[in-house]
This record gives sequence, structure tokens and C-alpha cells, in this order.
Amino acid sequence: MGARKQPYTAGLPGQPMTRLKLLSVFLACLTACAANTKEDTGSTGLTFIHINDTYRIGAVESGNAGGLGRVATIVRELQEQGRDVRILHGGDFLYPSLESQLWNGEQMVDALNYLDDIAPLYLVPGNHEFDRRTPEHLINAVRGSRFDWLGDNYQLQTGADDVDAAIRSGFIFEHDGRKIGIFALILHFEYGGNERDYVTTDIDHLAVAKRTIEAFETQGADLIIGLTHLHLWQDAELARLKAEHPAFMFIGGGHEHEPQFAAPTMRSAAIVKGASNARVIWQIDVRFDDNGRPGISTTKIELDQWIETDEGYAELAAKWRARLLDKFPFLVARVGVAAVPLDGREETVRNTESNWGNFVADQMRTAFGDEPADLAFINSGSLRIDDFVSGDITFEDIGRTFGFSSYLRYLTITGAEFKAMMEAGYRGEGRSKGHFPQVSGFRICVDHSRAEMHRIVSLQVPANEEWQEIDADADYEVVVPDFLYQGGDGYEIPRGRPASKTGSELKYLVLDAIMAAQAQGKQVGEKLDPANPRIEILGQQRESCWQKKWTRPMKKGDRGRPFCLPIPSMIRT
Ligand SMILES: [Zn+2]
Repeated sequence: MGARKQPYTAGLPGQPMTRLKLLSVFLACLTACAANTKEDTGSTGLTFIHINDTYRIGAVESGNAGGLGRVATIVRELQEQGRDVRILHGGDFLYPSLESQLWNGEQMVDALNYLDDIAPLYLVPGNHEFDRRTPEHLINAVRGSRFDWLGDNYQLQTGADDVDAAIRSGFIFEHDGRKIGIFALILHFEYGGNERDYVTTDIDHLAVAKRTIEAFETQGADLIIGLTHLHLWQDAELARLKAEHPAFMFIGGGHEHEPQFAAPTMRSAAIVKGASNARVIWQIDVRFDDNGRPGISTTKIELDQWIETDEGYAELAAKWRARLLDKFPFLVARVGVAAVPLDGREETVRNTESNWGNFVADQMRTAFGDEPADLAFINSGSLRIDDFVSGDITFEDIGRTFGFSSYLRYLTITGAEFKAMMEAGYRGEGRSKGHFPQVSGFRICVDHSRAEMHRIVSLQVPANEEWQEIDADADYEVVVPDFLYQGGDGYEIPRGRPASKTGSELKYLVLDAIMAAQAQGKQVGEKLDPANPRIEILGQQRESCWQKKWTRPMKKGDRGRPFCLPIPSMIRT
């Protein structure tokens, strides 16, 4: 994994910044500020750059994809063409990440401030901005932000009046004599947002949007846009307000981690969402016809290795990199070696079987003793590295994989209960859901064309050297993250069944397993075995489950064993 190996060379740990470097940062800032305050006169038009769900200071995929430094480059290029650029951020940035465990998102505020100095940045908070139960870190983040925090369907009650008042509700800015109205909506806790006593959210965001749009129309807005952190289906509902409000042209959204696009129609506004960590961003160019009617053109931009990282931003990234290594010099230490590249990219772990997900889930089953539990799974939203783990595995790979605490529970439930519970992992439309599970001890086949909560076509467990459907009446021992046990990500774990207290933390089990392999001179992980998939998603090339001839349910040395053993002690930490 190598975001860390790449552009940070400008600020190697312990190497003081030279005067020259400081000067160049200062000059970069001066140029940026000048661009920022430039009036629209002479602008060749208005462009929005939309990003969302950015957790990392640096790029991902070995430094080859995404990163706000590449966003800065794109913005500057558009400005050089004379465009009036505004940056939209669809939320989720303060948490979770390795750095946020140290600085509570201060590093991301610094990064977004940098972008805001280049072009005005408007942000709607995502659910992760409310990850903390108490408001002090949010207070610090808002106070530290030079960019604007927006929102029309919520109010803060943080106890800090300046912060509560800093949230901008629907407003209009001018471009070349045209009025542009922006409103913003966040996710209510009933839909999966965080429930916090320092924020009050109006659940009827559609009514809020309608009122705000009507107010914009009264003020003569020429173009109206929505900035949201909602589920895609909620954005789709919202987009239909265009039928009544023709100036409502597009929604820049967040929450989903892979690109989303709905084309604009006469009756529906366009929807754009980028990929997490700015792997994919959107450019929305605005134009007005002779009658003043707005039009937009949207361009999806993949931020790959061909787009350079902005120099000033690289300095910022190097600064945070040096701080991180100053705190934790051991992060770069090798703890083991990956036998093959282990794929922890969100595009993989949130949609399909991943060999990094398999390795992690396999460690869960022995969390409560050497005798492995029958079944285990983890929501892919708990796996945050968004990168390959390859070659030398470092502490940092483990730290980045687990952005949250990862305590586990052990419980005993029936096969029927387990299968019903797993349906939650396949709900919703579209790709890349954080509730999509990585699994161990069973194989599962899913058909998304079926009705929600009835999508599992087959869930099989090994028995007598073959696979067979899970026994609805038998008891199974299951290990799950405590987050899911508590009802996180919509999994409903049956109550009143035997369950342990929270036990081992998965982060350390994974570390342990890698170090144990290293001690024995072994490498960890393996390629996915196409003859023995753990997860099959029907559709496209595959029409029925388990088409390939069964070869082996478990290989020698696997942790399979007969079922229905006596229930072991419930607390095995
Ligand atoms: Zn979100």
C-alpha cells in the first residue's frame, strides 16, 4: 500500500522545511487568495467541482488515485481558462481515519481550507461529522474552517453560539449578474444519520427543500442547486422537484462511495456523486441561454496518476505526514508480508468478495478462543483503507483498515435467524454499500433483482466435506462486530439469545495473525479462488448460484468443523 510511499518525499519525517519551501507556500497562498477574491468580471463562465466523502489527506491506491491535491490542480486549470470555480463538498470528512483518531478531523479542515483558498468551497456535513457523542470536536472543526458549512434541515445546539450561528442556510450568490441559489440537506438519524443531542434535524427534508426553492424563486434565482448528504433514493425523490421548479438544475450528493449519475430531464434535476477520497469527481459547467434559462453540462473526472498533485497541497500533505510519523514512527515498520496484493479498495470490499476482507473476517472466528466459531462477518464500511495491502504489511495498513474501534461479540443463533439477519447486508439500490458484508465460514449467493430482504438465494455452510444450505433450526456460533450487534448498519441481531460481552478488538487480532505468520516465515493472504467463491452476486454473467462444479468446501488446515458443538463459555477474551 503506498499512498505514503509516494508524494510525501517533500517532507520526510524529521527534515525541517527550508526557508525556500516556506516562501513557496506563502507565495502559493498569495496567488490562491488573489484568485479567490477575484470578481467575476471577465469570467468565461461558472463551473462547480463536486467532491464528497473524503477521509484522506493523501491519495489512495498507492498514490495513483484521488487525493485533494489533484482536485486543487483541476480547479487551478479551470481558473486558468477563466472559469469562475466553486467547489462543492457533499459531506463526510472529519471521521473516520487513522489521522482523525489523533486530530479529530483538524487535518481535513486544514486540507479543505487549502482548497477554499483557491476557490470558494461549500460543504454540507455528512453523518460522520457527527460521529462523536459530544460536540467539542465539531465546534473546533467549524471554528477552524474558512469554507462554508451549509444546511437547511438542521440546527446545531453545541453550546457555542458562534458555531451554531455559523451554519449557512439557503443563500444566493451572484455570477455575471445571474443569481445562483444553493440549499443543503443532511441525513436524519431515522435514515442512518447519527442521533446527537447537539443537532436537531427536520426529517421532512423534501418540504424543507421545497420551501427553500420557493424562497429562491421569489428572490429571482436563475439557477438553483442542492448540496446533500442523503441516500441516492432520497436524492432521486428530491430531484423530481424540478418538475415544478425548472431552475432547479442539479444535486451534488454524498454518502455513496462510488460515482453516481442521473441525467437531467425536464422533470428531474441531475444528480452527481463522486467516488470516495476524490477518486472520481464531477465538473458541472453552467450556461444560460438568451432567455436566461439555465443549462448544465456534467463531466466525470477520474483523478488518476496522470493528474499532478498541486505543489502547495503536497507541502500540506507532507506536513501532516511528518506529524503522524512523529507521533507514531512505528507506523512504517513491517509486521508481515502479503503473499499476493490484498484488495481493500472500497470499490471491492463494498461490492464483492475481497481477499483482504476474507483475511480479516477469518480472524474474527477465532476471536473467542482457538476453536473457531462457525460464522463471522463484518460490514465493509468498517474497512476504511481504500487501498491494496501489498508487499510489506505495515502497522499503518492495519491502522488505516480500522478507522473505528472494532470490538467483537460472540453469540449463538439459529440458521434461520442468521439468514434473516444477513438480508440487511444486501438491501438498497445501487452499488457500494457500507453494510455489504465480508464473510467467513459460509458462502452466500444474492440476487438484487428480488425484493429487499428476500435477496439471499442461497446461504451454505460446509458439512461432511461438502456445502449444504444452512440448517434453519440448528444453532450456530457467530462472531460479529459490536457495532452491528448494537444495531449499526441496519442489521437486526436477534435479542434474547446467548451473547458474550464485547471481547477482543479485531484490529489487534489481524495484527496478531500477521505477526504470527511473520514469525513462522510465512506470508499472509491468498488469491480469490474462482472455483470456491464466498460471495456470488447474480446478474450480468451469472444467472444461478454455484454454477461452477464444487471442488472443495474447505481446504486442509481450514478452520471448519462439525456444527452444534456445546456452547462454549460466553466470554472467552
Ligand atoms: Zn455518509
